[in-house]
Amino acid sequence: MLTINEIFYSVQGESSYAGRPCVFVRLTACDLRCSWCDTPYAFHEGAKRSLENILEEVEAFACPLVEVTGGEPLLQEDVYPLMERLLEDGRTVLLETGGHRSTARVPERVVTILDVKCPGSGESGKNDWSNLDRLRPHDEVKFVVKDRADYEYARDVITRHDLATRAAAVHVSPVHGVMNVRTLSEWVLADKLPVRVQLQLHKYIWDPATRGV
Ligand code: SF4
Repeated sequence: MLTINEIFYSVQGESSYAGRPCVFVRLTACDLRCSWCDTPYAFHEGAKRSLENILEEVEAFACPLVEVTGGEPLLQEDVYPLMERLLEDGRTVLLETGGHRSTARVPERVVTILDVKCPGSGESGKNDWSNLDRLRPHDEVKFVVKDRADYEYARDVITRHDLATRAAAVHVSPVHGVMNVRTLSEWVLADKLPVRVQLQLHKYIWDPATRGV
């Protein structure tokens, strides 16, 4: 059984898969409280559902790309059989995780999109740095940047851990409505940082407050 906040079909917005139709399975609960969190409704709202029931709903969308997200999806034990079953069904599976829970048991073929929390989130002390050692060539890393201090933190982590050569992509994403994307882009260009400046695409397609997109 898993506690599910929502399952929906939308456009992937926050990785190198951005722009592709995708089914999202959002799991309830998170043990972080990032200052800029845009899914606080996933902290508590949700219903217990069986694996079969979840897979049936995903199947109905007939979409080859599925993202398991939250909340923090790695808090629920049954997320592992969920990912295995989605892979067995032939889907490309993305896992969006906050970076503070170990990725050691994430199935090999899953594409992990690993957040590294910057100081502006208020949660950078919780980063599990061993997750960076576990990165596989198809995994991606994301830094949500609120200000210059966050940018410099991200730049240092990217450089120190050689992330650009160890992951499929490294994203720096401005906090929507707070960090100016042009300013962030100019910092990246000035430093020749080997990253992708990433916008949350769905927030430009739909109203930023819209849920289920
Ligand atoms: S880890 Fe994700 S869901 Fe949890 S508080 Fe941070 S942004 Fe929100």
